[in-house]
Amino acid sequence: TFRIASRLATLPKPATIAMAARARELRAEGEDVISLALGQPDFPSPPEAIEAAYAAGLAGDTGYPPIPGQKALIDAIIHKFKRDNDLTVTSDRIMVANGGKQVIYNAFAATLDDGDEVIVPAPYWVSYPLIARMLGGTAVEIPCPEENGFRPDAATIKAAITPKTRWLVLNFPNNPTGAILERHDLEAIADVLRDAPHVLVMSDEIYEHLTFDGRRHLSILQVAPDLAERILVINGMAKAYAMTGWRVGFACGPMPLIKAMIAVQGNTTSGVCTLAQAGSAAALKGGLDRIEQMRETYQRRRDTMVEALQAIPGLTCAVPEGAFYVYPGVGGLIGGTSASGRLLDTDVAFAEALLEEAHVATVPGTAFGFSPYLRLSCAASDDQLAEACRRIEGFVKGIR
Ligand code: PLP
Repeated sequence: TFRIASRLATLPKPATIAMAARARELRAEGEDVISLALGQPDFPSPPEAIEAAYAAGLAGDTGYPPIPGQKALIDAIIHKFKRDNDLTVTSDRIMVANGGKQVIYNAFAATLDDGDEVIVPAPYWVSYPLIARMLGGTAVEIPCPEENGFRPDAATIKAAITPKTRWLVLNFPNNPTGAILERHDLEAIADVLRDAPHVLVMSDEIYEHLTFDGRRHLSILQVAPDLAERILVINGMAKAYAMTGWRVGFACGPMPLIKAMIAVQGNTTSGVCTLAQAGSAAALKGGLDRIEQMRETYQRRRDTMVEALQAIPGLTCAVPEGAFYVYPGVGGLIGGTSASGRLLDTDVAFAEALLEEAHVATVPGTAFGFSPYLRLSCAASDDQLAEACRRIEGFVKGIR
């Protein structure tokens, strides 16, 4: 058999991949599958982004870009940090990458030696532990229990820190739970970090604009400016601007770290597509009205989903504070048997049976390191979401 590098061959396979493949197969067989598995906004990208990308192409902006990012986009990012986070940042602390995902890769590649530890609060977006492991690091998962609003407890973080800890990952608003950290949460975490000067913080704020019920996102960089030389803020165009396919993410961090990340990117992908950068700069400068409309839509869908799911006996569903997912608990149904005779012994089995029997694709909590739950994306039409909830209800009623 073909030999794959051990750092890749030994990586756990995410449960999402099998689910997505099976959903595609069912569709190809003509089944009407509703997929709530993807974290992809169902809105068009801003027209001003598309126009700016087109204009840049016609104007000849088609050569190799500088690796850290083009000036117009970096200026727009500086503007964004001031407008959205009340942070004054300079261009030498910023870099642009192919999506938030490449920012994470760059940061871990630039800093992790074999065996270095990355603390990842669970549930988590699956890429943090996978990228850390692929680069020789060790992911140390700490639980964020539902009773605690899916927030990490400062004492739990403190207890997880060892001399080998290199990073603490914070992703709030959180994928998959939508949890948000309040100022007092951030202050307690900052206090822990002040006692652990060897630990860097990766604050992934890509869902910052998608907050509900009047809540506002706060960055740890605002709350603890004294830790600025250890905080890497990650953000990007994908979620708030509905620009997933443009592959533009960015980071703001300490200069030596940004410099090392630029070196990593210089040896992998180089600078980001010039047209995508021009479009992103226009979107960032284009104001927040469109984002506000999407935010309202996601909040309304969240309300519909939470209400429908809470009404299904056996399911629980916390009310997400942000992002665009709901994360219902299926603990009350584990151990049962589906109408077609599948044993529902884990949330993975639950999600598989739900896909096979009710044709709704979700992602089991196992994929996010926190079970037994399901993640459902609200990035689908009202009709699809309502139909998905009806199907889930029918599926659950059939469990014995
Ligand atoms: N961070 C979080 C928490 C995400 O959920 C995602 C996408 O799913 C990303 C980062 C990466 O976004 P992209 O690489 O598309 O910019």
